[in-house]
Amino acid sequence: MTFIYNKNDARCMWCKRTKNPHPDFTFEKIPTKIFKSQKGRKIELCFSCYEYETIKSKKTKTDFKKNLDLKYETLKILNI
Ligand SMILES: [Zn+2]
Repeated sequence: MTFIYNKNDARCMWCKRTKNPHPDFTFEKIPTKIFKSQKGRKIELCFSCYEYETIKSKKTKTDFKKNLDLKYETLKILNI
């Protein structure tokens, strides 16, 4: 799993963070990776949100890519 460091417009679509949360890297951009959802959406996530989604997928036995769509649609409904 390769995350992109210092991507200029890096922004996690789940937690909305743009800065690296690690205190030693205050001025760095958050490392993110773009995942493709089941419906073909491009979902940009930071490492902690990616880990959370992976664990959730395993627990609920739902496909990781399908989970991305479900979460995306929930966020859209809630308008956040
Ligand atoms: Zn995140």
